[in-house]
Amino acid sequence: MERYDCKTAQTGFCAGYAFVFKKEKTIRYERGDKEEEENRLNRAVLTLGKRLEERRDSSDNTEAELIDAELMILNDESFTGTVSSLIKNEGADAPGALERAEAILCGRLAAAENDYIKERSEDIKGLISSLAAIITGNETASPEKPCILAGEELSISDLAAFDHGLIKGIITNTGSPTSHLSVLAGNLGVPYLFGLDSITEVIHTGDYLVVDGGKASVLINPEETVKKEAERKQEENEKARAERRKQAETEKTKTGIYANITGTEEAEAAERARCDGIGLVRSEFLFLNRKNPPAEEEQFEAYKHIVEAVKGKEVIIRTMDIGSDKSPEWLTIPDEINPALGQRGIRVSLNNRELFRTQLRAILRAAVYGNLKLMLPMVTALWEVDEAISELKQSAEELKEKGESYCMPETGVMIETPAAVMIAAELASKVRFFSIGTNDLAQYALAIDREAKGLDDYFDPLHEGLFRMIGMTVEAAHAHDIPVAVCGELASRPDAVEKLIRFGVDELSVSVSKLYEVREAVAEIESSFPTDNSLI
Ligand code: PEP
Ligand code: MG
Repeated sequence: MERYDCKTAQTGFCAGYAFVFKKEKTIRYERGDKEEEENRLNRAVLTLGKRLEERRDSSDNTEAELIDAELMILNDESFTGTVSSLIKNEGADAPGALERAEAILCGRLAAAENDYIKERSEDIKGLISSLAAIITGNETASPEKPCILAGEELSISDLAAFDHGLIKGIITNTGSPTSHLSVLAGNLGVPYLFGLDSITEVIHTGDYLVVDGGKASVLINPEETVKKEAERKQEENEKARAERRKQAETEKTKTGIYANITGTEEAEAAERARCDGIGLVRSEFLFLNRKNPPAEEEQFEAYKHIVEAVKGKEVIIRTMDIGSDKSPEWLTIPDEINPALGQRGIRVSLNNRELFRTQLRAILRAAVYGNLKLMLPMVTALWEVDEAISELKQSAEELKEKGESYCMPETGVMIETPAAVMIAAELASKVRFFSIGTNDLAQYALAIDREAKGLDDYFDPLHEGLFRMIGMTVEAAHAHDIPVAVCGELASRPDAVEKLIRFGVDELSVSVSKLYEVREAVAEIESSFPTDNSLI
């Protein structure tokens, strides 16, 4: 048995078998004879074609259309012909021919005037990387049964294609408690440890692991008695959790306890867990791990589903917070030295107006079906809010002209940059609510990238400076009679909740898995000062 000390991003305890996630490597060059290289290419085209057809047959209309477009390219003579002529005439091996074909074909498309044709180069890139992965055997495997995921520098994009229900715990080499991976682990209600060096050398797929978030340690391949003890502890925790849930069933709190979600299924889970509403829909998750952005119709269906799932309760949809570590492959963002300070959130929306308007139309239409509100991420200036509201109005006009029903949602902003804190009073006069994104506010206030490596001793999410910023924001909001929520990870930290409530925060928005424990904690805190909920 080996024991390693790590750092805790999400608490909890689990035991089970490891699945080590390895990222795709770059293409290997292998020179075979021409005929063999052509055969490798043809076999890969057939395999990919079959997979795409199978996926199309089990997809909804919108996705099926996208897959059909990919199949058309894959079966087009000018696509396969270009690759095989590089093998035949220039002696390239199959992976090398694919790489060069990408440059040739995408170069041709880039010269086209029509945007639609230009955008096809993303389909070509996607097809080429899938073919290369099949040929070189470098396809990324996904776990098929419950497992504890271990990997180097895992990002949420790496996990987007996984069945999240199979993940019992996560361990990585680098990380931080406010990284998006940590947010995901919180959503799943699983422990997440980081800080295990050479992780892919010490943990192998199939190893038995005991992950203890409380002790910040992992045991690898312990003896039978330790395994039995860990499994017993796991069962006990499960029972205790069910009991807490039961208790929290009847608790009522003055502070709203809202849920943070990333997709439609979580909306139902949040409703079952008695959320007071959905305080944050991270809508960008709808845009990740795909070859093209979701069409208006697909977005409309998703937002409508969420709104209906919570039966009239408030739902706050954050417009896509794309960029930094949540960059979809279909969007070209120039290389950035520091992506956290680059094209992110509202900036991406305002720099890609058609994309933004498509989302706004979908939100406006879904608002007809319930109590939907819209929230803008990463705001730093008043003009950004003015511009976004003007886009919202224009999108509403477009729907009106088409005779579509829509409803104008209330608009709020996320307070997650120091600049937004400093102009909170002015922002409060333009919008109807605030939600403080403490994950980002901490990174920008402390000047530490939330995905930074090796700086976790400096990353103090309970820093007094951060709490003062929260206090200033609440004061500005309440002076303008608008409510304030906290939707970052701080909202579910037992060592922060009381302070937030005493500061006068009106709502806490937390991952679905934390709804019960936060509700219970808040009920207890509120019962100690039932009539005075203000800063003391
Ligand atoms: C935050 O920054 O606190 C937040 C809730 O948004 P995200 O974690 O998605 O950036
Ligand atoms: Mg944020």
